[in-house]
Amino acid sequence: MTQFRTGIGTDVHALVAGRPMTVAGLVFDQEPVGPEGHSDGDVACHAACDALLSAAGLGDLGSNYGTSDPQWSGAPGVDFLVETARRVRAAGFEIGNVAVQVIGNRPRLGSRRQEAEAAMSAAVGAPVSVSATSTDGLGLTGRGEGIAAIATALLTLD
Ligand code: MG
Repeated sequence: MTQFRTGIGTDVHALVAGRPMTVAGLVFDQEPVGPEGHSDGDVACHAACDALLSAAGLGDLGSNYGTSDPQWSGAPGVDFLVETARRVRAAGFEIGNVAVQVIGNRPRLGSRRQEAEAAMSAAVGAPVSVSATSTDGLGLTGRGEGIAAIATALLTLD
């Protein structure tokens, strides 16, 4: 009998000048700020990784890719996603889908949503949906100080 496992992940990064705005595997060249971080700060990919790891019971990004490990320093978010999907499958799971919601004022994802979904789906090897919302100007995302994402994943185990 097939078993189902769900997982959840969130990520937040501060936005600072001089960093490329990388979200959901895409770079938004026109943005004056980008996520600060040890890696590229791609909140969509990081939240998706945590959701996959959570569903598989494999811990989280921090426990899988310690921030002191030079192999992962500056690594693109999609690279984390490729490796995370590999680890989840190696643990015996099939990946059903991943859903990601990006929270923030900028960048405007709407016009590039399909491109974002294609990039993340290719990395995971399963359907990834990407949506976005703002927070009515409230909080760190509304003030433009940061960007956040929340994700869920569904895995199956035969
Ligand atoms: Mg992160």
